[in-house]
Amino acid sequence: MKLLLIPQIFLSVILGCVGFSQSAQAQKSQPNGTAKPIMQAKQVVPNVYYVQGVSEMGSSANQNFISNAGFVITPAGVVVIDALGSPELARRLLAEIAKVTKKPIHTVVLTHYHADHIYGLQEFKNLGAHIVAHGAAREYLTSDTARLRLESSRQELWPWVDEKTRLVPADEWLHGPKALTVGGVRFDIQPVGPSHTAEDLVVYMPQQKVLFAGDLVFRNRIPFVGQADSRHWIEAMESLLKFDTRWVVPGHGPISSDAKTDMTLTRDYLIYLRESMGRAAKDMEPFESGYASTDWSKFEKMPLFKSANRMNAYNTYLLMEQEAK
Ligand SMILES: [Zn+2]
Repeated sequence: MKLLLIPQIFLSVILGCVGFSQSAQAQKSQPNGTAKPIMQAKQVVPNVYYVQGVSEMGSSANQNFISNAGFVITPAGVVVIDALGSPELARRLLAEIAKVTKKPIHTVVLTHYHADHIYGLQEFKNLGAHIVAHGAAREYLTSDTARLRLESSRQELWPWVDEKTRLVPADEWLHGPKALTVGGVRFDIQPVGPSHTAEDLVVYMPQQKVLFAGDLVFRNRIPFVGQADSRHWIEAMESLLKFDTRWVVPGHGPISSDAKTDMTLTRDYLIYLRESMGRAAKDMEPFESGYASTDWSKFEKMPLFKSANRMNAYNTYLLMEQEAK
């Protein structure tokens, strides 16, 4: 471990200012000897910032800091996009926000209700923030899936997610697009689900040409597919290209100034999953042999391939069976 530390610090020095390297996210020792990822707000354009999670599975060591969040300072208060994956991370994000403004948190917009984007929500709620999300998440919030997920997260992500961590509903459930203006700054909130989840939203700032794309876009890692509707997800990505963007902040990975090129990994991966698993499902080939005979070489070097690809392929296989019916 010690031997690895030196190049990592060196990398963080040379790449830290750019902030686009996962390996540059140098780790700080915690009292118990484990390491936690550094959180540092980076400016996208004036008054618009984001923090970038690490390309790992959520764990106690990384406090579940595996996804991104954004924040925008307006004259009327701060608008936050996504609440991160534990209350501790939300407090760390609030500390980052406090470094650049004394203004209160006005609104939190959630791109979707996956654990790594919402377990920090109660911290913002406690401060009186107005929480906005898509209404399709309501079903999930009251489901056994969400409850069981939280129960197991209390074990896996302890002490960062514990018995005091709770699922927080939105104050405002959207059922269509919404133009939100806070302190004269405009946010176009656009539903794009069902794709990664039923309740996906993207947030576009037309004056700044910044798009918060949520988990429609993953960069520098294998996407998490889960129960996604990958056909609509691919279509929704096409619709994102219609926004006049200068910067895209993805749900995971570094920001992008070239939406078309940088969306291709997610897009190509989804298409490849659908083609390979679709072929196996159509030929009624069992999943195991379909998976084994698929050439994964294009993706197997990506972070999280080992932990996510097989499950992604399996879910896609089941989906393709359904679609074939
Ligand atoms: Zn996510």
